[in-house]
Amino acid sequence: MTGTKDKFNISNEIIYSLFPDKHQCDDIIEFLKNSINHHIAELPTISVNPSLSKEDISHVLSKYTFDGNFSPTDVLNDVLHLMEKGIVHVTSPNYFGLFNPSSTFWGVISDLITALYNPQLAVWSHAPACVEIEEKLIKYLGGLAGFNPDNSGGAFTTGGAEANCTALICALAKYFPDYAKHGLQSINGLPVFYISSDSHLAWLKIALQSGLGHNAVRLIEVDRSGRMDISCLTQAIDHDIGNGNKPFMIVGTAGTTNAGIIDPLPEIASVSNKYNLYFHVDAAWAGAILLSDKYSHHLNGIEHANSITIDAHKWLSAPMGTGMFICADKHILAIPFAVSTNYMPAGDDINSDPYTHSIQWSRRFNGLKLFMPLAILGRTGFNNMIDYQINLADYLRSELAKNDWQILNPAALPVICISDNGGFDVNKILEKILEFNQCWISLTTFANTKALRICISSFRSRKSDIDQLVSTLNTARNFASI
Ligand SMILES: *Cc1c(COP(=O)(O)O)cnc(C)c1O
Repeated sequence: MTGTKDKFNISNEIIYSLFPDKHQCDDIIEFLKNSINHHIAELPTISVNPSLSKEDISHVLSKYTFDGNFSPTDVLNDVLHLMEKGIVHVTSPNYFGLFNPSSTFWGVISDLITALYNPQLAVWSHAPACVEIEEKLIKYLGGLAGFNPDNSGGAFTTGGAEANCTALICALAKYFPDYAKHGLQSINGLPVFYISSDSHLAWLKIALQSGLGHNAVRLIEVDRSGRMDISCLTQAIDHDIGNGNKPFMIVGTAGTTNAGIIDPLPEIASVSNKYNLYFHVDAAWAGAILLSDKYSHHLNGIEHANSITIDAHKWLSAPMGTGMFICADKHILAIPFAVSTNYMPAGDDINSDPYTHSIQWSRRFNGLKLFMPLAILGRTGFNNMIDYQINLADYLRSELAKNDWQILNPAALPVICISDNGGFDVNKILEKILEFNQCWISLTTFANTKALRICISSFRSRKSDIDQLVSTLNTARNFASI
């Protein structure tokens, strides 16, 4: 008897430790509010690199054996300490790194709201409001790219890699009618697709995930400016056709990760058209300039794509986990992804259920991280943010040239690859820069030359941060020459 009673008598203590009562919530929120304010105030001068070693981190974590329990404030203190000292601060104005931007405040709030309500977006009927919001965004951005909103579609993804993987699967399904049902073995010959040698190498992993393998990826040479060489492209396609292989897709990169170079999209569109191949544009980072009046023309040709990838968690300043796959004809998604089950609630229209037209099943409401800031700032707000960062990059280019740095990549976008005119070792210069710990930049190779790579990606970066960066670069070069 007592056993039965106890079984249905969970203590408030347990419930409240899962989700505290109002008073404790208030305390925690107050504590967090102070920590957030402190963090934001410190950001402009924060050490960009982690100061905790692996041992330091292990030391903090060693007491968490999960046999006992700790007070929420103790745990929060540890977590915030680890965040402050145990990561590269990509949201710092002095992070000139890998397209990981500062999150907008609205993105931060959106993450909180999403976690609180925890809507399930797999089916329309479970979260109609959220599915409609995401669809509106997908159609809006597709519209900016030149897609007809009546036909366009897509899905939010966890990032660019998932969006590109979606493209590959759609291309296979569109090109090889038996693929969705019978898989790759139904294809008579090796399916191959074309990307430039400066493309994002997630394509290799994606080829493997889809069962194609790395050999299906044709890396097309780039010209001196880093753009896919069109004559090499057509030669490679002809060569593959001659050998009995099955070309099915060309990917144009709009904004290479290493150097911000945009492939010749109109020419790639013509080649795709001529050979009847699927045309995808990977605009993971630079797709954001569709929101700029002045610079969107750099993406001319994108309107001919079958689909595009845009990451909101790059230049659109959304917190991580926010990518988009957008296609001109939404029907291509149903071919590989539509399934029906006897346990999922059916929507009115099968196409309205995200699980029937995308890779994911359970789906988080990531679109809110873009909806809120777009609604609050409007396109003009993003337009200004993007133009400002492009202007900062132009200013940086002129300062670098004045200071005897050689700019290698002819990018219109805010990624700058530099080497030093005097032939100093860029590895050594980078080592010094990271040692000074005032900013974060990286190394890359452009046109077979080792280079320092600087990308302006935080809306917090100002002209004074750029001046500071140039002075740090100059000092590091002096040290490296000793
Ligand atoms: C970042 C990037 C990717 C990969 O996107 P994730 O969001 O990291 O998955 C793909 N292509 C390009 C051009 C990128 O810049």
